Amino acid sequence: MNLTLHLTDNCNMDCIYCIREKCPRDMIEEVLYKACDLAFSKGPRAGLCFFGGEPLLKKDLIYKALDYCEERSALTGKRFDCKMTTNGSLLDEEFLKRAVKANMGIGLSFDGTAQNISRIFAGGQPTLAIVEEKAKLLLKYMPDSTALATIAPQAVPYYYESVKYLHGLGFKNISLVIAYGRKVNWTDEDLDALREQLVLTCGYVKELFMKGEHVFIGPIYSKIGECIRDKNPSERCHLGVRQMPVTPDGRLYPCTSFIGDDAYLLGNVFDGVNDKKVMEIAQKASTPETCIDCDLVKRCTNSCGCANRMNTGNENTVSPLQCTYERMLIEISDALGEELYQADPVRFAKEFG
Ligand code: SF4
Ligand code: SF4
Repeated sequence: MNLTLHLTDNCNMDCIYCIREKCPRDMIEEVLYKACDLAFSKGPRAGLCFFGGEPLLKKDLIYKALDYCEERSALTGKRFDCKMTTNGSLLDEEFLKRAVKANMGIGLSFDGTAQNISRIFAGGQPTLAIVEEKAKLLLKYMPDSTALATIAPQAVPYYYESVKYLHGLGFKNISLVIAYGRKVNWTDEDLDALREQLVLTCGYVKELFMKGEHVFIGPIYSKIGECIRDKNPSERCHLGVRQMPVTPDGRLYPCTSFIGDDAYLLGNVFDGVNDKKVMEIAQKASTPETCIDCDLVKRCTNSCGCANRMNTGNENTVSPLQCTYERMLIEISDALGEELYQADPVRFAKEFG
């Protein structure tokens, strides 16, 4: 089974959209090893995602988990996969060498040229220069790593140039999401500006496509791909069935935004998973009533219970912000998809099929 290990609630950054309450709580070894055992207890493979706060504050725990899980994998014959999401500031060669050996996938949270606006160190110092150097180091060891940019309203004017900047650094996988949660406040003007930035970004995607260069720029690529594969993105939301967060003290929840709510507690690493509760909660992830008759219902992330809960307090209620954003994204991505198809249908099928 797949577990997301919140190794610590602490972080050395203070991002303007961060939804986590930073407090001095780290995972202890006993919880770590029990979580690894749990990951191996169900299904044909074990998956761990190292997460925080900032997981590299607990490098020692990551090394221990890797050694332990590789041993378990050899003993049981079960495959072990691992990944990590990090702000990158603490990456170093020693860690990257170990991560390469473990075949770890690393997502670097990096907001491009908006970095110093939205992602600052706790204490207020800028982070761009250091994270840029760490990004280069990461790409030297793992050229397929993903840059994960979170776009807050203040970062909207930097969207297009950030995509070009991150690509210029060498990222071939760039994923951009808009910031949700209580710390951000989107206005109509921000959303109009976002539309302009998305259109500019589509122009860049077209430029790369015409040059025959493959650069995955989510969410535009995802929307085009899901359209032609007729895949419903809501299928991705399983509220704890496929991926469960583990808190530093070992409690299990359906997804990050449910952490701390006892009504959604799915068990703990010592006593195991309450399967009945998992199924009960997974069934709650249904299409919101307001979306049932919408033409875009199969193209939209309306059923992401985690995002819905973060925005509206209810996993089955979509916020006006998400609805507006999804409509905009689908419209703009579809127009680009049509253009790319007309320009080169064979390459289009290869790229998005
Ligand atoms: S790096 Fe992540 S955990 Fe740390 S402040 Fe930023 S968003 Fe929060
Ligand atoms: S576009 Fe809006 S109404 Fe339509 S499915 Fe998405 S969230 Fe629901």
